[in-house]
Amino acid sequence: MYECCVPGCNRAAELEVILYDFYLNDGGEVLSEQDFTCPYICAEHAVKNEKQAEGLREPRGSVVYPYTNQNKAQGFTIYRTSICRFEVIATEVEGLAYFLMVSI
Ligand SMILES: [Zn+2]
Repeated sequence: MYECCVPGCNRAAELEVILYDFYLNDGGEVLSEQDFTCPYICAEHAVKNEKQAEGLREPRGSVVYPYTNQNKAQGFTIYRTSICRFEVIATEVEGLAYFLMVSI
């Protein structure tokens, strides 16, 4: 369980914060990585973050958020439900351990 990264907030984080961008070149590269300036956020602060965001959410765009992307990198913030993601990883690890035991 992670806590919301907004200073002074003690609520549990429901969402993982991702910095997303799409490079408009022939390679079609995508940037999609955890926002290290605010990696986890609660639902209430995520809503506030979106309502108070200023700028266009577009490739190579510039959006200013109250809580996320504090280094003002190009791109924009997206969220994903971290709880689901960690359940998938745990299941995969268990499956791998089981496979290794069987093959020995
Ligand atoms: Zn919060």
